[in-house]
Amino acid sequence: MLMLALLTGCGGGSGDESGSGDTESGGSSSAEREQNGGSQGTDQKSGGGGTTSPADTADTTKQSRSPAEVGADETGSIMVLEYHRIGGDPTFSPDWTISTQQFRQELTYLYENDYYPVNFRDLVEGALEVPAGKTPVVLTFDDSSDTQFTMVREEGDWVPEPAGAVGVLAEFHRKHQDWPMKGTFFVLPEANAPNNLFGQPELAEKKLRYLADAGFEIGTHTLYHANLAQATPAGVREQLALSVAEIKKRLPDYEVDSLSLPFGEYPSNEALLRSGTWQGSGYDLEGAAEVAGGPSPAPYSSRLDPYHVPRIQTGELAGQSQALFRYFEQNPGERYVSDGNPDVVSFPKGSGESLDTAEIQSAGKRIRPY
Ligand SMILES: [Zn+2]
Repeated sequence: MLMLALLTGCGGGSGDESGSGDTESGGSSSAEREQNGGSQGTDQKSGGGGTTSPADTADTTKQSRSPAEVGADETGSIMVLEYHRIGGDPTFSPDWTISTQQFRQELTYLYENDYYPVNFRDLVEGALEVPAGKTPVVLTFDDSSDTQFTMVREEGDWVPEPAGAVGVLAEFHRKHQDWPMKGTFFVLPEANAPNNLFGQPELAEKKLRYLADAGFEIGTHTLYHANLAQATPAGVREQLALSVAEIKKRLPDYEVDSLSLPFGEYPSNEALLRSGTWQGSGYDLEGAAEVAGGPSPAPYSSRLDPYHVPRIQTGELAGQSQALFRYFEQNPGERYVSDGNPDVVSFPKGSGESLDTAEIQSAGKRIRPY
């Protein structure tokens, strides 16, 4: 079953979907983009004529710059990037492989263009802690292959092999302390080697602990890349409960909150994804990732379905990431830009129509149009 996953990739027949995702991301009218204005547009608003409410004053203890000054727009889009193989044999599965060099370049691009990494669960739970003026980005890694995280001995210690995903991310963090070790690994506990929790089964527990301690998130991708559209309801519960149990067997206190659906295939009863049990093991998932679809709506947007979060595929051949990087350069007003205060949802007046204000209030947060 896993071989099929690798040959066809995580997405299966998702090429068309990701294509339409591009269209979708470009689908806003030019009027909407003008209205949002991006950081340039908000400078004018901060210059004069802006209103100062009591809420503005209260927030100054938590941030040094106002939402207008940083061009905050917490209604904008967020990229959830989808990586599979990092380096390794480029001919093995070219659609789903990105070279180590290109991965480093993408990280450098994101860092230099004011993106800031968060975990997948932070997006679906609406708990984004992002400095003012930065745009959250979610790096996700599917299939737990050896190219993502092999460990090697260095002066008696086990450390991430430098050319794999974790090695590159650790090195990047050492160089740039303001780029935290965030990103979500959707793992396959019972796949065939080398996708069984990154190969090296004797080091599986050490690797999961390394990821959790560093700040990365561990999510499930089912036990062995099961197609949940073809599973019985009991089969869905089995795949989810046992994959979570396999992670918790190695990290007993760890909460698994997130799922990536193999092939992007959903069970007919999607409620099975949220919570369930199988032979004494349980799961309680906060969100699920699709395999394609373009940028994600913001937390608290009525357009965000936490169990259908779209992603942007990477890869030498099938990758959409470069196109989306260019897209947001040309349409900066569509980016989510943080106000730096997780308790407040800030946005330029007129761009908050998509927000679910009742949900924001029930989360104990406030909205602040400016
Ligand atoms: Zn996969």
